[in-house]
Amino acid sequence: MIVQPMRYRTILLFGAPGSGKGTQGKILGTIPGYHHCSCGEVFRRLQPETELGRTFLEYSSQGRLVPDEFTVRLWRENIQAETQANLFNPLNHLLVLDGIPRNRRQAEILQETLEVLILLNLTCPDNRKLIDRMQRRALKENRLDDANLEVIQRRFQIYEQETRDLLEFYTPNLVQVIDATQSPVQVLRTILNILAHLDHQPQP
Ligand code: ADP
Repeated sequence: MIVQPMRYRTILLFGAPGSGKGTQGKILGTIPGYHHCSCGEVFRRLQPETELGRTFLEYSSQGRLVPDEFTVRLWRENIQAETQANLFNPLNHLLVLDGIPRNRRQAEILQETLEVLILLNLTCPDNRKLIDRMQRRALKENRLDDANLEVIQRRFQIYEQETRDLLEFYTPNLVQVIDATQSPVQVLRTILNILAHLDHQPQP
């Protein structure tokens, strides 16, 4: 008998750069039973002088996405290490993913790994608001990819190109649209309300 490896039960946080995925993901990750993983953070933890770190900087400093196979491999290694370290327990916990999958190809590669319970799409009709948030973040977090307006514009362009395809990959009943222009606490309240009504609840 072939035993299928279990898929991670997953909440996907989705939205343009600056829409607040990371802020919300971090808060959700502090709730017992929820494990947050930000793909951008996994990349930023790489040492810049290693080959992996150089590859990341080469793409991110231009506002481009890191190639899909490389991204997914690195992400898998990271989540496996967190599982082994008992930080994440796939049987009991829900995984809150932010920044991955980021396009259709990544969603296809990860289809056998993730059981997506819900996709929270943080939307904002006005990019200027997001740009303002990102430029403030650049100062606080020393992020090269947030400091330059041209790079920011490219990230929005890529986001818009990739989004439609990725959203179409998931059935519409999985997608919940959330107004990202609300304050962080209002966004959080909306998300918690949705999560409290999910059929799957984690065991802390
Ligand atoms: P933001 O959502 O503000 O763009 P992130 O922290 O999620 O910020 O990502 C920062 C950078 O890391 C991206 O611009 C990209 O270069 C790289 N990156 C993060 N996640 C992915 C991914 N899933 N695929 C490819 N590149 C990624």
